[in-house]
Amino acid sequence: MPDTMEALVKASAGRGMALETRPRPACGENDVIIRIRKTGICGTDVHIYQWDHWAASRVHPPLVVGHEFVGIIEEVGAEVDHLKPGDLVSGEGHIGCGVCYFCRTGQGHICRQMQIIGVDRDGCFAHHFCFPAANVWKVRPEIPADAAAIFDPYGNAMHTVMAQSVAGKTVAIIGVGAIGLMACKIAAVAGALSVFAVDPQEHKRSLALRYGASEAFDPNETAWKQRLLRHTRESSGVDVVLEMSGSRSGLQATFELVRPGGEVALLGIPPSDVTLNLAESIIFKAITLRGINGRLMFETWYQCEQFLLEHKVDLLPLITHRFPYREYQEAFAVLERGEAVKVILEWG
Ligand SMILES: [Zn+2]
Ligand SMILES: [Zn+2]
Repeated sequence: MPDTMEALVKASAGRGMALETRPRPACGENDVIIRIRKTGICGTDVHIYQWDHWAASRVHPPLVVGHEFVGIIEEVGAEVDHLKPGDLVSGEGHIGCGVCYFCRTGQGHICRQMQIIGVDRDGCFAHHFCFPAANVWKVRPEIPADAAAIFDPYGNAMHTVMAQSVAGKTVAIIGVGAIGLMACKIAAVAGALSVFAVDPQEHKRSLALRYGASEAFDPNETAWKQRLLRHTRESSGVDVVLEMSGSRSGLQATFELVRPGGEVALLGIPPSDVTLNLAESIIFKAITLRGINGRLMFETWYQCEQFLLEHKVDLLPLITHRFPYREYQEAFAVLERGEAVKVILEWG
């Protein structure tokens, strides 16, 4: 086996990334080495590529980037006996400490010592990837490798929708990029009465309408909120709003659209502090507000798998672009231009 590999690296502070030759990682006794086949590019990776305020405050270059992957196990550590070379796997990229209160009470997704691959430690945009065996997710043979490569954002969508009941309810989803689109489909399958997709981009709205949404709204049009509210009981508001844009206007719309006594789940990350009239937006409206972080380990993963196995969700229509890894610059460009929904890098 060659002792070097290529990896996509955030080499230094500033815009861009670089392909570098790196030593093939060594396998720890509780780890596996994964030969990466496909990786998904996430909005997080775009932030790191662009080196925005969040990236500059969180990421310490040099770092191998990437956290969405599927690959084949090529080596297992001495203490690992539930996995073997040749297994097709993805994995939970949030690595908790395993011993704190949160990790020990089924809340490992909010461990305070959390390390995220491709953000806090080396990630998966590489030919070989060393990963804790406890975080590996074995991919069932019925599931396409392309779908397995994007289980991470699919899990974000699943966790956000499942955080409250949506059955028999009206649901608005603000921001229908890849995760918002997945949420449209999951909410529809989970029994939502109506799913309202909100996004400024026409191609995403039209995909939403073919992917679980009953109506789609352009937030740049005048009076779109009034038109949306007409679909709710006495125009009083939507039962559940899922905020996935992280934009100031999206957050503002969220609290205008939710009905009194309704529920809000926030997944989108605002670029800076947001001002909100708490009394009018939440307290007097008696809103239940939830922050959503990552996925439940591993309840969400089992839900994601089951929705695919039962053919309730097909993730492949969301993959609009595929590039060989050497063409990563073009892959990031289509995302920056807003042309893509989900982009896959192929590693061979
Ligand atoms: Zn991601
Ligand atoms: Zn922990």
